[in-house]
Amino acid sequence: MKILMVRQVGTGCQLQPSLAMRVHRVTGDQCQYDQESHKGDPVKKPTGWMSNSPEILKKLSKRCRGVGECSRRTGGRHATASGRVAREAAIYPFKLCRAILEGCKNQLLKDGKLLAGARGIQALFDDDHVEYLDALTGEKLNGEEKAAAEKVFNVTSHEAMVKDSVTGQPLEPLLVKAARKLEMEYFEAKEVWERSPRSEALARTGKAPSRCAG
Ligand SMILES: [Zn+2]
Repeated sequence: MKILMVRQVGTGCQLQPSLAMRVHRVTGDQCQYDQESHKGDPVKKPTGWMSNSPEILKKLSKRCRGVGECSRRTGGRHATASGRVAREAAIYPFKLCRAILEGCKNQLLKDGKLLAGARGIQALFDDDHVEYLDALTGEKLNGEEKAAAEKVFNVTSHEAMVKDSVTGQPLEPLLVKAARKLEMEYFEAKEVWERSPRSEALARTGKAPSRCAG
């Protein structure tokens, strides 16, 4: 699954119809992520989030169980989110940012896009036979929905087609080309072969020359 997005939403937010049914929404209270007024009082600010990633939504759906009094560990009474408090609460607190990133990491682990011993996010290749699945039901997307998802994610890399044989990480095409050139120059220098025209193979064996692995 590809992570589509995580975004704060109000009511009346509209999505492309073909994607709308695959994106889910949760609400979380920002006081649970350390949103505070300049006086240090908790700011509840219930916030709607949309994403196709269940792991991100899981991290963003913490609710405050307190009435007036906040249920966060350090307690306190909720500040009214208006004026300066509302303006300042437009900035996400560190804990909220971290929750998004942790959710993202968990999703990547779950999807097999983060691997032990490999750095960075693993790219997708044509031979990975990418499928788009509904995040919650696991149902395979087809037709119009698949085309829409492909357009959003643009997942298939047509440039980076060479993978490291051990880690499966994509390799930089220009460096691969340079490394191959260097290797071939080394072979040339050692005079391990001599060039012959194709016609010679045909004349001697009646067949085209066989391919060899580079
Ligand atoms: Zn609270």
